Amino acid sequence: MKALLLIDIQNDFLPDGALAVAEGDQVVPVANRLMSEFALVVATQDWHPSDHRSFASQHPRRHIREVINLSGFEQVLWPDHCMQGSHGAKLAPGLNLGEIDFIIQKGTDVDIDSYSGFFDNDHRKSTGLEALLHEQGVQEVQLVGLATDYCVKFTALDAISQGFKTSVVLDGIRGVELTPGDCERAIQDMRLAGVEIIQ
Ligand SMILES: [Zn+2]
Repeated sequence: MKALLLIDIQNDFLPDGALAVAEGDQVVPVANRLMSEFALVVATQDWHPSDHRSFASQHPRRHIREVINLSGFEQVLWPDHCMQGSHGAKLAPGLNLGEIDFIIQKGTDVDIDSYSGFFDNDHRKSTGLEALLHEQGVQEVQLVGLATDYCVKFTALDAISQGFKTSVVLDGIRGVELTPGDCERAIQDMRLAGVEIIQ
């Protein structure tokens, strides 16, 4: 059984959003097209409390995109985004929401970020995605969504390490590119880990 994972296709990551990913809206038609080919579709949703520690606004004298140490982990400071219940946290309105079977929320712990759809960044707390996929008899996952160099990459790497055959659809992902080349490096990292990159 093969599942489609839609990674963080949410308003705040679209071009008008708080943490806009360039061309982020372009993944929506790709996701819609793929959804009809999969019996199981799971969407992840970045879902932060309003005082989440990944927000630059929570750190006086720090600025957006600065990297700090947070609970022992390198943390990029982001603009406030995907706050629980906000418009920005909603899944993109262009998505065929009726075809989404399950939504997995992540980043709900105020003290730690969760780029991966499977675990918090310290790998201590699971989001429940792995259990859900096993319960549904899934052995293989295909990913599309945002952003290539963060949540797509870390979800794909965790999927591989949890034993799922994993592929990422290149025209269904877009990245942040904090540093030029980040997306290319993310794709290389995924490939090296055994993720299949497909068109
Ligand atoms: Zn976030």
